Amino acid sequence: MTSDDADELRALVRATRTLAEQLRASGASGVPAAPRHVAVATRPSSTSPAVEHAPLPPAPPPLPEASTTPPEERARSLAALSAEVVGCTRCALAGGRTQTVFARGNPLAELCFVGEGPGADEDASGLPFVGQAGQLLDKMIAAMGYAPDEVYICNIVKCRPPGNRKPEPEELSACLPYLHQQLALVSPKVIVALGATAAHGLLGAPVAITRARGSWRLYAGRVPVMPTLHPAYLLRQPEAKRDVWRDLQAVMERLGKKR
Ligand code: SF4
Repeated sequence: MTSDDADELRALVRATRTLAEQLRASGASGVPAAPRHVAVATRPSSTSPAVEHAPLPPAPPPLPEASTTPPEERARSLAALSAEVVGCTRCALAGGRTQTVFARGNPLAELCFVGEGPGADEDASGLPFVGQAGQLLDKMIAAMGYAPDEVYICNIVKCRPPGNRKPEPEELSACLPYLHQQLALVSPKVIVALGATAAHGLLGAPVAITRARGSWRLYAGRVPVMPTLHPAYLLRQPEAKRDVWRDLQAVMERLGKKR
């Protein structure tokens, strides 16, 4: 990427943020499509923190070999999608949010991190992974040799679940189409799924993350996904950082980054 490209991207990111702020300030409502989901069963009564047993969300649409859409157009489409999400009321999480939390980072990054959903800090700031877990994620990203604005970071759901509970299946299903559109536009070479909910949403099947972590999977039939543990889990279980670092080293190797 040339410095001109980088400047243009930075300008587009700034424009996206400005547009989103303007829409929020004006109280505008978006024009979300009707939800495509989904008959949903009740949540399980007992799960381990690392295992998700909820019913399957919709499978991601197949992706083409690589995006042939020009970078500027992809960044503009992401900005438009972000603006649409600002007014979304597809699921009950809309009622409890301060604001939607779409993404941060480079909209054309080769590496994308997907988490579960916004917490209190993210709900307040409008950006994903800015609390304690986010600071740990930033350290891991730096250790991989990336600046924060070189990767793309987003979540499965864009609104904060009350009390930081896991998103309900119907909430996952309502929000997943946004994630699929995001990932189709960003067109990353590799996705890191942070935690069981992210892996479930990306892979379309329940995931026991402590067993699944460290093994490559495929998103939409094409994009390699590395499931690993969520940074919030690492704050509670710091001894697991070693495992996550192994997973991230596999990602670096896949992307040709020096170790
Ligand atoms: S969580 Fe997703 S689907 Fe639900 S209201 Fe927020 S943006 Fe819309």
